[in-house]
Amino acid sequence: MARKAPAEDPGDSRLRVGPPKDHAAGVPAVTSSLRHAHAQMGVRRSLLTLLSVNQKSGFDCPGCAWPEPGHRHRAEFCENGAKAVAEEATLRRVGPSFFAEHPLADLAARSDYWLGRQGRLTHPMYRPAGSDHYRPVSWDEAFAVVARELRTLDSPDEAAFYTSGRASNEAAFVYQLFVRLLGTNNLPDCSNMCHESSGSALTETIGIGKGSVRLEDLYEADLILVVGQNPGTNHPRMLSALETAKDRGARIISVNPLPEAGLLRFKNPQRPSGVLGGGTRLTDLFLQIRLGGDQALFQAFNRMLLEAEDDAPGTVVDHDFITAHTHGFEDFADWARKTSWDDVLEATGLSAREIREAFQEVLAAEKIVVCWAMGLTQHRHSVPTIREVVNFLLLRGNIGRPGAGLCPVRGHSNVQGDRTMGIYEKPDAAFLDALGAEFGFEPPRPHGHDAVDTIRAMRDGRVRVFVALGGNFVSAAPDTDLTERALRNCELTVQISTKLNRSHAVAGRQALILPCLGRTEADLRSAGEQQVTVEDSMGMVHLSRGRLAPASDSLLSEVAIICRMADAALVSDGPPVPWADFEADYDRIRDRIARVIPGFEDFNARVRAPGGFALPHPPRDERRFPTRTGRANFSVNQLDVLRVPAGRLLLQTIRSHDQYNTTIYGLDDRYRGIHQGRRVLFVHPDDLAAQGLAEGEPVDIVSEFSDGVERRAPAFRTVAYPTPRGCCAAYFPETNVLVPLDSTADISNTPTSKSIVVRLEAAR
Ligand code: SF4
Repeated sequence: MARKAPAEDPGDSRLRVGPPKDHAAGVPAVTSSLRHAHAQMGVRRSLLTLLSVNQKSGFDCPGCAWPEPGHRHRAEFCENGAKAVAEEATLRRVGPSFFAEHPLADLAARSDYWLGRQGRLTHPMYRPAGSDHYRPVSWDEAFAVVARELRTLDSPDEAAFYTSGRASNEAAFVYQLFVRLLGTNNLPDCSNMCHESSGSALTETIGIGKGSVRLEDLYEADLILVVGQNPGTNHPRMLSALETAKDRGARIISVNPLPEAGLLRFKNPQRPSGVLGGGTRLTDLFLQIRLGGDQALFQAFNRMLLEAEDDAPGTVVDHDFITAHTHGFEDFADWARKTSWDDVLEATGLSAREIREAFQEVLAAEKIVVCWAMGLTQHRHSVPTIREVVNFLLLRGNIGRPGAGLCPVRGHSNVQGDRTMGIYEKPDAAFLDALGAEFGFEPPRPHGHDAVDTIRAMRDGRVRVFVALGGNFVSAAPDTDLTERALRNCELTVQISTKLNRSHAVAGRQALILPCLGRTEADLRSAGEQQVTVEDSMGMVHLSRGRLAPASDSLLSEVAIICRMADAALVSDGPPVPWADFEADYDRIRDRIARVIPGFEDFNARVRAPGGFALPHPPRDERRFPTRTGRANFSVNQLDVLRVPAGRLLLQTIRSHDQYNTTIYGLDDRYRGIHQGRRVLFVHPDDLAAQGLAEGEPVDIVSEFSDGVERRAPAFRTVAYPTPRGCCAAYFPETNVLVPLDSTADISNTPTSKSIVVRLEAAR
């Protein structure tokens, strides 16, 4: 029995601001999880679903990519995992009658929060050119529309195929195969906007764009640095891993512009101390760094390590490791010794005392893990920053041994898996050779468009068909007004989705919504019930098996949609691909993956082992570094100090606690003291005073960029908050309008969403 979604779109009419919290989780996390679950699913369905998530024979949480521990708790999920599951398994439905009631213009005027609460899509819908309404369409008619529009293109490069990190390995593999058979590498993905800087820096320095640690390494570390990451909201089960590490004596340094509750203390609801007591203090030393100051901090650490080695030769730097496994040490060391303390202090906003105190922790630790997320990857100098982190770990051989290594924590549940499956606009030759050999064709070689380039191409009319496998592209992308115009400039936009979102309202002249099964739902194909696979942030590949009855009989799985679309769109005289067989039995897809992608040999057998299997990682497993030098590469990085004109601030876009990427679960951000509202701007009280503003005063935020375009986010309530001087923060997607499309990280082309120069004006 379908449930009616709340009609009202409250906006910030009930906004309340209170003090931020100094701890995460606890009993409120349990009550919040149950409240969200009950509101969307009711009691019985909540129990069935929540007790299946992240279990060995259950389904993988559609939230973040944090790995499963060997031993699973009966409740193996966090508060935000429960919200993610509840959103997908909701009993609310969006069918033809909803679209008859709501023209696109109405939907476009709604908040992301309201759109997301409407529920699961039930039928394929089509918006013909010239119409402001979606109407029901049959699957075959839908695929015929796609085929027709793709065939009218002058080149396959006039189409782009986006992937959000929720797509399964099997869906991602057949998707990239279809797109490459079509003849293009235009395969942008959400990774382009999040961890691309990590991939670029790691591929260059250690030869593989993935983190080198396993969960056990966190437990065994002496020191864990959590940098530019807010695990309490974005990877909550990581707090359990940090707590276990603390139990074993690890020290934790957190480096973040904001004193996030989840960094300070964890009240684990699975422990009596977390329910009745004060929980576990996590961070031993908190460094409240300026936005973009992390490169300088690691350059300072590296200089100090070299100086400590000079003072006591053979006691600090691991020369054996450096000699045996690295390249470029001398140039790096010469450069590092010249690091300017003035620049370090200006860039970090930290005192020399704080940096020295942290350095003593570094010096005292043998095994070090560095964890990071968007706080490192979304700046113009993000790639050099992450290269500096690698320098830091290479100096003491902290790669390829237990208790040590690199830990970029992925945001979306299978974003790493999708990239492994070939979802990449810059595929390497070896992958294309293997794919071509397996399917008997010559894949396209020229690199395609990433996310930012795809927006440029749609804006300029060079991309006319945009297909999205999951996600909410328009809300995830930067420069919202421009991106909306670019999407509306397309002849056809196609969204393969589970739930209603803004990307359905901001559409091309023609538009299709293709509703698919969710991760929680049983996937029955002609060969029987199917399971999919995902790869977590630490390279573990495992099965996911949905349990619930589909939200509608008209849904198809991601794999089925792609296989039928490919069958309809590709020319009949192309290489024979058994799309129907793939749709019928995913084992057949996995057999092909096993022959094309290294590390997946005997895929079907190995993935059926409890917990799945680990993919090879040469630096971690053998201290072998498949780089251009065949060694781990030290690098020399020009220090980039972010300087802001007088009276301006540096803004970072952030998530609230009731949010996952662009999905808004609720209007609270209880860890930061925000209730029932989202248009808030966190500013240091002294900066408010310097701007002549009182707390609570409404302002317009205006970003300033070299293109001279005015980008304005109106009517934000100022909140006095403990941010570093000169730095402020506000939620996305509301502030993505302020991020200029051309403001991207060097090398990775990732939007610089963590360091935008803004001015504040009295609200108009
Ligand atoms: S930590 Fe991430 S993957 Fe795990 S339950 Fe929470 S949201 Fe889901």
